[in-house]
Amino acid sequence: MNKLLILVVEDDPAIRNLMATTLRTHDHRFLTASTGASALMQASTAQPDVMLLDLGLPDMDGVEIIRKVRTWSQMPIIVISARAEDTDKIAALDAGADDYLTKPFSVEELLARLRVTQRRLNFMQTSTASPIFTNGELKIDHAAGCVWLGDRELHLTPMEYKLLCVLAQNVGKVLTLSFITQKVWGSSTESDIASLRVFMATLRKKLSGGKEDVQYIQTHIGVGYRMQKL
Ligand code: CA
Repeated sequence: MNKLLILVVEDDPAIRNLMATTLRTHDHRFLTASTGASALMQASTAQPDVMLLDLGLPDMDGVEIIRKVRTWSQMPIIVISARAEDTDKIAALDAGADDYLTKPFSVEELLARLRVTQRRLNFMQTSTASPIFTNGELKIDHAAGCVWLGDRELHLTPMEYKLLCVLAQNVGKVLTLSFITQKVWGSSTESDIASLRVFMATLRKKLSGGKEDVQYIQTHIGVGYRMQKL
């Protein structure tokens, strides 16, 4: 497994030093930037594998950086911000961030998110254009339109199947309610979101296969859902 090159974007020197020390201690390769302009420059020239991004920067809002980076790159972006409101998380995720960590954060939590990102990157590299998606016991055969859990075929409604495919295409990534309803229904009204919760509940039940401890779909209350890479 190659070591990730991580771009740390943070204007607070104390937090930047803490992150740098943590990454160095755990043998990660990293670069740092303290302004939005320098973050964008390094993101395009050094082509890091992952960006850890503070939202409140002196010259630019972090959400703006996410939008700009997304015009040319799909690199995972983990937002690390003191803004704890759901609306801030949703704005960052909708702009294309992959994950969100609220300050103050623990070093262990940061390292765990990086491990998730590493798994997701490995998975993306090995599973491009495969007609069969697998994750733990879950298997989606896109060509046949069938879903299996171990050796048992799951009977999903067309809507549940569509939802499952959206989650699977973005495995490891937190998807907002509005992102999912846009993908599935092409709109994001309150009634779409209410329907989404209902379909998601039945889908989760079918995916659990009666085992409470197997959680393919994680709920982020007020924000959205994530399919975990098992
Ligand atoms: Ca800041």
